Amino acid sequence: MHNVDIELVEMTLDVMKYAINRITNKSPELGRPKTAEELKLSVGDTITENGIGGEKAFNLFKDVLMKATVPIDHPRHLAFVPASPTRSAIMFDLVTSASSIHGAYWMEGAGGIFAENEAMEWLVSLTGLPKGAFGVFTSGGTAANLSAMVTAREFWRSKDERHIGKKALMITSIGAHSSLKAMARVIDADVLLIPSEEELTGQQLQKTIDNLTTNQRERLFAVVATGGTTNAGIIDDLSGIAEVCKKENVWFHVDAAYGGGALAAPSVRHLFNGIEQADSITIDPHKWLFSPYDCGAIIYKNPDLAKKAHKQEGSYLEIFKDEGARGFNPADYQIQLTRRVRGLPLWFSLAMHGTDKYSWAVECGIKLAKQAGEMIDTKDHVELVRQPSLSCVLFRRKGWGPDDYRNWTYKNHKEGLALVTPTKFKKGNDFETVARFCFINPDTTKDDIQLILDTMK
Ligand SMILES: *Cc1c(COP(=O)(O)O)cnc(C)c1O
Repeated sequence: MHNVDIELVEMTLDVMKYAINRITNKSPELGRPKTAEELKLSVGDTITENGIGGEKAFNLFKDVLMKATVPIDHPRHLAFVPASPTRSAIMFDLVTSASSIHGAYWMEGAGGIFAENEAMEWLVSLTGLPKGAFGVFTSGGTAANLSAMVTAREFWRSKDERHIGKKALMITSIGAHSSLKAMARVIDADVLLIPSEEELTGQQLQKTIDNLTTNQRERLFAVVATGGTTNAGIIDDLSGIAEVCKKENVWFHVDAAYGGGALAAPSVRHLFNGIEQADSITIDPHKWLFSPYDCGAIIYKNPDLAKKAHKQEGSYLEIFKDEGARGFNPADYQIQLTRRVRGLPLWFSLAMHGTDKYSWAVECGIKLAKQAGEMIDTKDHVELVRQPSLSCVLFRRKGWGPDDYRNWTYKNHKEGLALVTPTKFKKGNDFETVARFCFINPDTTKDDIQLILDTMK
């Protein structure tokens, strides 16, 4: 063996050892961010002409850089939307990298894309969309939403020549995720926000459409409902909204980036009724389906419409003759060309554990939210803002203002106890600062919740 190979083997063993330690650690140290200046002082120059060597770079990562990150899978990380990738999915993420698969075209990635599609079929089956519906894995919910919006806008333009060159208009509610507004800027579309953070109903939507000016009505190309708002877990009235979209002949997109995992949970599946009538659906497996970052998904009722919008033509792309080269090309259905087969870790984990295990794990989050709600109800110093929805709990500490919440978050994080951040929720015409839990990790316990509630006394 050459020296280089021995080094490589040692490095590989070090990396595997680290990976195994990290994924079996159920309570990793709750790191905190540092300024770039501080980090630079600690690590010095890492990019040099001759290299600093793998061992040194890896040690800097482990000893300094890693500690300036927050482990999103910590059982008391209940801020934003946490994550809890399965060990098998993480290990297979390493395998995915090691396998060097190009995931844009079937011609090169057939075996990997086949496996991704097996996982996708399960996802599609959860939605209840009709036969022919299919999807593709994206880098996340933002890219999935953008891919759907481009598809919807192109379809709208294809229906009527007068739509070409017109600025498109989309309707959603203030409970919708910020990525929709950001992606509307990318496609230069206007967004009309219905000012309700509670469940958006078909009636509200109908009333909004009825009140549009003629010009606005002509520009309306899509309605976006949310299948589990990121802030509060609220699911819009998908059946009612579907009906209005059908009647008004506009594209119906459901953003279930966070909530989509709950389609696998029998106890709440009925809340999503109507989702089977969507034209497109966003689900993030890296949120509530236990995939490592990054893995989103966009599903279309009619994938051909996505292909019309996204397929890239390149003279060097259509040269393959053999039968095996013909198949599903993920590049045709979303905004990205060269892509990682990022659905592979989900496929392996699903294949290993079975779908029942996934249902169980999602139900855990819902149960934790219920338990937290009950615990809050029995305590004097805190009260629910609204009943828990999906795995989100909004509650207030009686007598606290925004600064109290901020100090509390900071203290708990600094002490390495928990990361729980406050949020704002609509109250009358104003927004109130409140505390929020979002449960994803099945390893979170009632004791964890108790511990955190006690820090608010
Ligand atoms: C998180 C989220 C997004 C954005 O997804 P990313 O994966 O962060 O790009 C979009 N919509 C909803 C409802 C979300 O919760």
